[in-house]
Amino acid sequence: MSAENAPSVPLLIDGKLVQSRTSQWREIRNPATQELLARVPLSTPEELNAAVASAAKAFKTWRNAPIGTRARIFLKYQQLIRENMKEIAAVLTSEQGKTLADAEGDVFRGLEVVEQAANIGTMQLGELARNVATGVDTYTLLQPLGVCAGITPFNFPAMIPLWMFPTAISCGNTFVLKPSEQDPLSTMKLVELAMQAGIPPGVLNVVHGTEEVVNGLCDHPDIKAISFVGSTRVGNHVYHRAIKSGKRAQCMMGAKNHVVVMPDAPKEQTLNALIGAGFGAAGQRCMATSVVIFVGESANWIPDFARKAQALKVSAGHEPGADLGPVISRSAKQRILGLIEEGLAQGAKLELDGRNGKVAGYEAGNFILPTLFSGVKPEMKIYEEEIFGPVLCTLSVPTLDDAIELINRNPHGNGTGIFTRSGGVARKFQEEIDVGQVGINVPIPVPVPLFSFTGSRASKLGDLGPYGKQAVLFYTQTKTVTSRWFDETVESGAVNTTISMR
Ligand code: NAD
Repeated sequence: MSAENAPSVPLLIDGKLVQSRTSQWREIRNPATQELLARVPLSTPEELNAAVASAAKAFKTWRNAPIGTRARIFLKYQQLIRENMKEIAAVLTSEQGKTLADAEGDVFRGLEVVEQAANIGTMQLGELARNVATGVDTYTLLQPLGVCAGITPFNFPAMIPLWMFPTAISCGNTFVLKPSEQDPLSTMKLVELAMQAGIPPGVLNVVHGTEEVVNGLCDHPDIKAISFVGSTRVGNHVYHRAIKSGKRAQCMMGAKNHVVVMPDAPKEQTLNALIGAGFGAAGQRCMATSVVIFVGESANWIPDFARKAQALKVSAGHEPGADLGPVISRSAKQRILGLIEEGLAQGAKLELDGRNGKVAGYEAGNFILPTLFSGVKPEMKIYEEEIFGPVLCTLSVPTLDDAIELINRNPHGNGTGIFTRSGGVARKFQEEIDVGQVGINVPIPVPVPLFSFTGSRASKLGDLGPYGKQAVLFYTQTKTVTSRWFDETVESGAVNTTISMR
């Protein structure tokens, strides 16, 4: 298929799927085969303005939509997502590369947030204190902000858009979404289902693009809040640009997730968990295990670790039995291969070399086989940078204190974990570690939406995280009302010129 004949991804403006008038397009290719799937526009400034104007207009009525109306839309939406799960997962695998089972997991983790959005009636409650002074009550209203915008990464094209617009919209806001330009097709399937579920025209809009469109969202005077998930470099830029124009911003960013293996940990379960967390989704999860710290004698497990990793089946995501698929693009593959070279040059030892592995039937795919380094040092580039591929760094230290110190010294603070049979050791780790998500014998501790996703240090900017209670606070403005109803049967007192309430 030539680029001109490829289907073009529409924008969603004012409830209508429309074609962009831009002259700039990007190709979307299947990372296992390089097949051209579609082309995505880089929206023009006029299209961005039209999307924001539609959202601003829709906010005037949507902000007053009753709780029941909002809840029922998301009840319907969760049903539609369930009914279309396999279809969305198939599209996701074709454009992103992850296995079908993992693509379903991607949709499912987003679906959990939609379920919470249907529960907005109990999530958006204010507080009331009766008789703060005689006959005076104080209460809070959690009111929607207005137009909010979301900018999402390539690695979870279902889950991460669903972290954003369902909660924002169920709180009474309207939304402009800018999906990843690398794999917007599954996101658009979810957007179409959201419209089918009854989200009114203008309440959800979609523009496409990269830097220029993102900057346009950060600067737009009618946008009140920006949610961003992606790399640390871009997230820092988005955060500072957005707050400079007076917006709220939440930016969830890059990671280097360390897992500590204590010598008392159950060996088979621990190694299996680490292999799944390190190499699943080809290491392209923000919560992927990227550094394993073996404490004391657990370092003797490295050869068995390498053997298990080597046994993983690498193939196109739709192939039965595939454990991991390709990385997202040719340029991502080149960047990862460059980092592996750098690791070797700086003296790390390759226990498993996945650079030249061939995947039968998919010779053109962006495949890298599981790759394992030992003897990694903190000053090496493979340790300093987020590799975001199926490449795991391991190092060994004598004590738990050394491991904790190392992790807390790393700039990133997204996820971490410890494997041990000792409750005391796990509790010490949980208390002393400065990382947002902590797993105890759980390799990828992404919280369910009864809680909120978090992060510390370079992995997060902004106080409030996505989904759960924190997201409801992020997408609402708290207003306090202090109210008195005069009892006209009681004689009026004297004039009160003080600040105290009586
Ligand atoms: P990315 O930062 O390249 O892109 C994210 C978004 O920013 C995309 O929509 C993209 O179009 C836009 N963008 C890209 N370059 C830009 C620029 N120069 N100016 C303005 N906008 C720009 O991230 P990615 O490669 O799509 O995703 C992978 C990254 O996301 C990894 O670092 C991963 O750790 C991180 N991530 C973090 C979390 C988390 O919750 N902390 C979750 C998922 C992914």
